[in-house]
Amino acid sequence: MNIRTHTFIDAGRWTGRAFFGSWEQTEAGTINVTDPANGTVLASVGLGGPGDIARAAAEARAAQKAWAKMLGAERARILNKAADLLEANGTELAQWIMKESGSIHQKAMIEIEHGALFIRHAATLATAPSGMFLPGMDDRENYARRVPHGVVGVISPFNFPLVLSVRSIAAALAVGNAVVHKPDPRTPISGGIIIARIFEEAGLPAGILQIVPGGADAGEALCSDPNVAMISFTGSARGGAKVGEIAGRNLKRVQLELGGKNALIILEDADPDVAASNAAWGAFLHQGQICMATGLVLIDAKIEQAVTDRLVAKAAHLPVGDPSSYQAALGPIISDAQVTAIQAIVDDAVAKGARLLTGGRSEGRFYPATVLSGVKPGMLAFEEEIFGPVACIVSFRSDEEAIALANRSDYGLAAGVISADIGRAMAVGQELEVGQLHINDQTVNGGPYAPFGGRGKSGNGTRVGGPADIEEFTQWQWVSVKNAATPYPF
Ligand code: NAD
Repeated sequence: MNIRTHTFIDAGRWTGRAFFGSWEQTEAGTINVTDPANGTVLASVGLGGPGDIARAAAEARAAQKAWAKMLGAERARILNKAADLLEANGTELAQWIMKESGSIHQKAMIEIEHGALFIRHAATLATAPSGMFLPGMDDRENYARRVPHGVVGVISPFNFPLVLSVRSIAAALAVGNAVVHKPDPRTPISGGIIIARIFEEAGLPAGILQIVPGGADAGEALCSDPNVAMISFTGSARGGAKVGEIAGRNLKRVQLELGGKNALIILEDADPDVAASNAAWGAFLHQGQICMATGLVLIDAKIEQAVTDRLVAKAAHLPVGDPSSYQAALGPIISDAQVTAIQAIVDDAVAKGARLLTGGRSEGRFYPATVLSGVKPGMLAFEEEIFGPVACIVSFRSDEEAIALANRSDYGLAAGVISADIGRAMAVGQELEVGQLHINDQTVNGGPYAPFGGRGKSGNGTRVGGPADIEEFTQWQWVSVKNAATPYPF
């Protein structure tokens, strides 16, 4: 299928360009976007450098005040139109997500559906009550209202490029901010161009949304730009630490949504078939390249064999290949460097005594669903976020031991507990130091209505989505009103 025959995305409009309210060339040149499944060049887009970011931030700041003054209902109308456009063109847009990020069709459609839901949720924020009256201190009236920060800088990763960009962009816009967005340079179309196109067609006033693909230099420029008031970052703990440092030095608010090493705890009374299915989905969806991926499969020793056998049987039969064949359950890994990193973790586990039960060896960019058992503290497979399709089985002998093993991680993003006894699963779950806890489910869950984020190395305590959005993307302003000015003692 020739991706250029489609019309909504209209490559003629943006090839070699970035979005500054209109499609223009960047100072830093262009970058080719390739399909990780076969290396085919899909398109070229404008690459942003620090100068381009400075320009985008200045233009966003100049446009923001009028946007914030617009009626909330009008902002909501534009957002809902953008969501309509995303859904209406979903079949076409999913092709780009599949090709650019190595996503199977099912995952690409999850991005389209969730992307639209995030925008529709954000639209509701535009007309939400935004303040409260405060108790009087004298004869004046006091109230507090939420006001936008100004310009929000959004930085997003490659793995769920559409959803992880649009969840911050839409919420920030809805409450009156302008946005400068820097998608990952490997996925600038799903994480940037698609978003620019839907908002452009929806009638967003020019300048409010600027989308400039770029690398770490562009990201760092965004974090130190004087016209940017807040940074919303989704990415690795290492990148987040750097972003937090620069934003902190420049006294900006910063939201950090980082990695995870997420435990799925399977108690002795779980159904082994269902438990294995949950572990497979949690560990292998999108080749394990998900912050909430099930990074440790903790299984009660009494049912370890039964669950492991089923998980290995599933893993061994999951087809790996180019998602455009529509036959693959696992597509390619995003880069050669990432394949090497996955292999090093698997090899380290085997060298330290883990058993490789299936998979464990890549063919080019394609890494098969892999199961390791006997994973223990001290192995990289136990300690590190793998970002590859590797299920790491850890055996435990009591609920207390499972809790202790899960809580050893420096990360604290998501956890799941599966048991026939909800009370027992809840008792285990409540001891886990995570931002999201799923009882009778695996760890990969997300959506627009929940406050999403993590503890420890998974973030700085901020959340994105649901009730958190107003808190994150606006700040308080105290307003006091006297009927007339009165004199002071001097
Ligand atoms: P990464 O940190 O390398 O890159 C993420 C984004 O940050 C990219 O746009 C990149 O260009 C930019 N960036 C990198 N260094 C930067 C710097 N010094 N200053 C400013 N920007 C910089 O992350 P990655 O490896 O590409 O993505 C995968 C990581 O993202 C994993 O750790 C994953 O768990 C995490 N992630 C977290 C969530 C979440 O919501 N918590 C969601 C998805 C992915």
